[in-house]
Amino acid sequence: MILTSDPDFWRAQLGRPVLERLGVAPAEVLAYVASVNASQQINQQASQQGSQQSDPALVASPEAVVLAADFLADVQDAMAEMPPSLLKLLARPLLGVYFARGLGSSALTDVVMAPDGQQLGVVCLMDTDAFLHRAANDWATWKEYTPFLPQEQYRIDVVIETPDNDNRKNAIQFILLHEFGHVLNANSEYLPDWWIGSKRFKSTEEYSYLSLAWQIAMSGDVIPLLRNDFPQRKHLRFYTGDQLPGELIPEIYQDLQKTSFPTLYAATNVYDDFADGFASYVHEVIQQRPFEICIRQGEQTIMELRDYWSGPKAKTRASVFAGIFADA
Ligand SMILES: [Zn+2]
Repeated sequence: MILTSDPDFWRAQLGRPVLERLGVAPAEVLAYVASVNASQQINQQASQQGSQQSDPALVASPEAVVLAADFLADVQDAMAEMPPSLLKLLARPLLGVYFARGLGSSALTDVVMAPDGQQLGVVCLMDTDAFLHRAANDWATWKEYTPFLPQEQYRIDVVIETPDNDNRKNAIQFILLHEFGHVLNANSEYLPDWWIGSKRFKSTEEYSYLSLAWQIAMSGDVIPLLRNDFPQRKHLRFYTGDQLPGELIPEIYQDLQKTSFPTLYAATNVYDDFADGFASYVHEVIQQRPFEICIRQGEQTIMELRDYWSGPKAKTRASVFAGIFADA
């Protein structure tokens, strides 16, 4: 939660068209991120207990960046090409998408509060270094490798775009869809609000998305239902943190296929279940784009994951996401 000293700045953002709510991160946001980074080591799964929805990548103190015109154009196009119904849903909560370097995360999303306690909306911050030079398939493949130590035995290839559309703009679009999933989680009945603290969480059944695959333990921790857990799940760290031996890749993806999670990242915590599920739902179901993971051992394909959303496991999640757009 970001406590602002300048609520009028944020109110003014809400008065602008959604596609114009972006730019260099304001100083008070960078100061907030620096103080969070200093007080807690953001190195793994901050989203489970932390004060922000963070997709970790780097640990450093944040600094403002001057955005290159071609980069800004890619961000604007990435947003403009999203479903109009999604842009409409974002109009109320989204304070903007802001950019910095050295965030301590590749991206993070958090709520902004006025000094009087009024919630102003939700802001997304993105680290420009994390994806500045990557096209969509390269970025998606790189991300999927991040939980594993480098090795030669297994290869993971992720395809989220056809060759014609395999560009940086579409990498940015998928990352933004994930962050917008976090934005739409705020003040919803899908999941607990991440900033209120687990003592104020309601019971499992009162959250329509959480209860599909998770439960709130007596401790307040959100843990997967037994059928959605697997031995290496809690050791998975995307972007940064301790990596697992690459030899575990086939076992982990086999175990993933027995669960109902839409992606491996979704299996790491309930907030990224929602955000990554949302991103892949919009990408595959609404935008009709590919999402395929191929695992190879040498030249031999040993596993292919595709068409999650047309399978029976996706039904309940799909109906939650369809419901979001039905209300738009
Ligand atoms: Zn996330």
